[in-house]
Amino acid sequence: MTALHLEAGGFAAAATGRRKQSKKADVCLAVTLADSGAPTEHGFGEVGRKERLGASSMAEQVLRTIGPVVLLGPPGAGKGTQSKRITEHYHIPQVSTGDLLREHVKQQTPLGVDVQATLAKGELVPDHLVCDIVAWRLRQPDAERGFILDGFPRTQKQAAWLDAFLKFEFFESGKWAAWLPIVVRIQVDYNKLLLRITGRRTCPVDGTIYNIYSNPPRVDEICDNDGAKLVIRDDDRDEVIRERLDTYERQTKPVAEYYEKLGRVVMVDGDQPVDEVTEQILKQIDGRACGVASGNEGKGS
Ligand code: AMP
Repeated sequence: MTALHLEAGGFAAAATGRRKQSKKADVCLAVTLADSGAPTEHGFGEVGRKERLGASSMAEQVLRTIGPVVLLGPPGAGKGTQSKRITEHYHIPQVSTGDLLREHVKQQTPLGVDVQATLAKGELVPDHLVCDIVAWRLRQPDAERGFILDGFPRTQKQAAWLDAFLKFEFFESGKWAAWLPIVVRIQVDYNKLLLRITGRRTCPVDGTIYNIYSNPPRVDEICDNDGAKLVIRDDDRDEVIRERLDTYERQTKPVAEYYEKLGRVVMVDGDQPVDEVTEQILKQIDGRACGVASGNEGKGS
């Protein structure tokens, strides 16, 4: 894949390289495309127009423009769980940079081979590589009504790159009336966070996330849905957790502060039961989604 440069000139170059890049995208994982139940053709020139789902769910489900949503929070805050719920609610894809990177590693693409050791140590992958993956993913047709970014941005450079990318790709191209993301910051008590991470188990087959303390499977270590043996993610192992939390403190907190200074952050108490956290997040997005359609937000920035 072509690397996207983070400085201003590089951004324009990245944008013009778009077509070339999407061809190479087939190397890049069918993963999230397949996951998303979202339709593949939605013109954003028609912001605010009511669009309907396909025959099966045609009932009364209306697909609306949601725009970009960024979920911020330390590892274990519930970003993955909440993203999946938002995805199901609005039919917009979850774009998890952690999942995309892990898929590259699993498929042993050149990028996967490059970043394998970095992931295993719990360190951050270089900005330009992650931005490149995100650019490719956000250009897929199922992301045209909006998307949830989970695990991105994680550095100030990534945040600045994202603003420029959204402005250029979605606003100036006339697809969206506004482009600034709604930034949801999920806050969780540190000790609860440790329990969440050390207790996390994932089904390698359908991706269901369990927690042996708070949301255990019916049978120990076995997925309720398909009977597969649950796994502990490599980077959830004790020795890696401290590094990930340190990295979060060091690098990602400034991202939250960057967004806070711009007045874009919505705080959500992640210590509440999962359903209540979801409810709070949906309420915030609903308010913002109207802003995107009306075009009253984000124009001046
Ligand atoms: P996650 O599943 O979001 O916790 O991400 C797992 C790992 O992928 C992290 O520990 C990093 O090594 C890498 N990673 C994910 N997202 C990013 C990002 N935005 N920037 C740099 N590295 C990332």
